[in-house]
Amino acid sequence: MKTPEHAPVQQVVIAGGGTAGWMAAALLAKTMGPTVRIRLVESEQIGTVGVGEATIPPIREFNRVLGLDENDFLRRTQGTFKLGIQFRDWGRAGDCYMHAFGEIGRNLGQGNFHQYWLRAVREGHAGRFWDYSVNETAALANRFSQVDKLPGSPLQGIIHAYHFDAALYALYLREFSERLGVTRIEGKIAHVERNADSGFIEALALEDGQRVAGEFFVDCTGFRGLLIGQALGVDYEDWSHWLPCDRAVAVPSERVDPLGSYTCATAREAGWQWRIPLQHRIGNGHVYCSRYMSDDEAVSALLDNLDGAALDEPRLLKFTTGRRKQFWSRNCVALGLAGGFMEPLESTSIHLIQTGVSWLMRLFPDRRFEQANIDEFNRRSLWDFDRIRDFLVLHYILNGKDDLPFWRDCRNSTPPEGLKHRMELFEAGGAVYRELGELFTESAWLQVMLGQNMAPRSYHSIVDGISSQQLRDYLNNLKTIIQGAVRQFPTHEEFINQHCAAPSP
Ligand SMILES: Cc1cc2nc3c(=O)[nH]c(=O)nc-3n(C[C@H](O)[C@H](O)[C@H](O)COP(=O)(O)OP(=O)(O)OC[C@H]3O[C@@H](n4cnc5c(N)ncnc54)[C@H](O)[C@@H]3O)c2cc1C
Repeated sequence: MKTPEHAPVQQVVIAGGGTAGWMAAALLAKTMGPTVRIRLVESEQIGTVGVGEATIPPIREFNRVLGLDENDFLRRTQGTFKLGIQFRDWGRAGDCYMHAFGEIGRNLGQGNFHQYWLRAVREGHAGRFWDYSVNETAALANRFSQVDKLPGSPLQGIIHAYHFDAALYALYLREFSERLGVTRIEGKIAHVERNADSGFIEALALEDGQRVAGEFFVDCTGFRGLLIGQALGVDYEDWSHWLPCDRAVAVPSERVDPLGSYTCATAREAGWQWRIPLQHRIGNGHVYCSRYMSDDEAVSALLDNLDGAALDEPRLLKFTTGRRKQFWSRNCVALGLAGGFMEPLESTSIHLIQTGVSWLMRLFPDRRFEQANIDEFNRRSLWDFDRIRDFLVLHYILNGKDDLPFWRDCRNSTPPEGLKHRMELFEAGGAVYRELGELFTESAWLQVMLGQNMAPRSYHSIVDGISSQQLRDYLNNLKTIIQGAVRQFPTHEEFINQHCAAPSP
């Protein structure tokens, strides 16, 4: 029998109903079930940020925990499969590489595949590093299938994420959450009431006079950070010196064929442009730094580089890259843009919402709000943000565009300490590592480093244990197996038509 102060929190109030609010509502409702009453306040008048359409593979775990049917989910959100992100012009002009999900090649004994490949490069018989990636081969051939292993081989199959329409995704999760008993309250939060002694949040006072009281509050109010920032005064750490882009213009355009299965991120004069293929349209945006480019120039550059006709007026979004110094303060946790934003280069924001809610679930408080839970949540969240930041900064530091002031300044900026160490390590002997619990794999780090022209001074001698001919045969075999398997896959569009075609909007 629990004493009253040990009793679990029962009244949860989520402020904000964008992707963060509804992801939090869905997962908490699914996992905490009837033990908590969840209410979500959102304002139609304010609306949501309305972008955030590309994801990374761990989202499949989120959907699995919710018990979502993949085909239904893709039909309802006009979704497509995503195999990676293609980076155009990030190294030197004309360079193009993909951060393809999943493994590349296959290790031989204790020797890492990429070390064998580095040796083959020295010997002059290596293919492209990505010739040994199932995902990249399938993405460029515009083919897709769901296989865990390539038939007749030990090679990993396709690893996928999704592209989806952000507004439809929020709606989908809203319906899911409401079915599980989450109550949605329409209204604009005018004031956050706090206890005079403890400083804890007690209620949200809405403009229309409603008062929504709770024991625990989740701030999903987007860039405003109404609870965590404005009410509780938790500071924001500004990372513009590492990630200087501070604006984006976004516009949807008509769909063009073929239906792609990867996001494109093309470097522009003072930033980069995204292209996200959905079933009914393409999502586009231009992320840029306002110190180097005006809004009008950014809009023109975006509209001049669309594949189809624009379907709407371009929308301008302003942001400061960085994160809160704490994500959990007193009885409030910040998720989504209220907690921080690092720009969408590697589609990590929705993932950070997912990890945030997952940790919240695991560390869910009782009425004592033990400091140990709060500290652990903050430690995990800060660590996740910082590791992802380093990966993003790597793209900017490794650019090869000395002729453009924005890119020259990015190149000359000082990397965070951890990143500097990783770069030195790779340059020395090609070593890469993934810290325990870190999002990005060795394969991800390698693809950006190699794709943006880093070349290690040597390779690991462990891979000298086989002859040059054996190495040649091994690489050729891998390539042949991958190409042969991919040729058997249906096209991405055929696969979607068979399994999850969405109705015309
Ligand atoms: C340019 C850009 C591109 C992006 N691309 C990607 C991507 O490809 N992949 C990815 O993973 N992420 C991406 N993101 C991030 C992603 O969009 C967000 O992480 C995600 O949409 C979550 O947003 P949110 O719910 O935190 O905020 P919002 O969508 O802004 O929602 C805030 C909610 O709070 C409510 N609200 C605010 N103030 C009040 C008030 N006073 N009263 C009542 N309600 C209020 C609003 O009505 C709304 O419901 C991108 C972000 C930007 C800016």
